[in-house]
Amino acid sequence: MDAYSGSVHCMTCGYDLAGSALRGDCPECGSAYNVESGEGVVSADTLAQTRGDRVLMWLKVGVLGGLGMTAIAVGAIAAVNAADWTRPMTVGGGVGGALLAMAAMVWLIDVLERRQR
Ligand SMILES: [Zn+2]
Repeated sequence: MDAYSGSVHCMTCGYDLAGSALRGDCPECGSAYNVESGEGVVSADTLAQTRGDRVLMWLKVGVLGGLGMTAIAVGAIAAVNAADWTRPMTVGGGVGGALLAMAAMVWLIDVLERRQR
């Protein structure tokens, strides 16, 4: 396998290692890499995919987190105007809390998946 023919990037920071030695430390972040064995390096395709996955993950966390905060805020605002304030607070807090928990789960799963690699 001719690892150095294509574009090779540092696995840690994504630095383009084209023109660098076949093995050594990344000039950008100092992580050890070895182009021949594939340690510490990723192809440009893999890097783009990884970045896409991360954008999608943060998008999910952002949407779920935003909806959760909105639900809690709506519940709190409704509670101010309601005769019985406990009901909108409970519903808003429950729905918002569930959405925030889902956002936390998405983030946690992403952290655990990256730790396995
Ligand atoms: Zn690096």
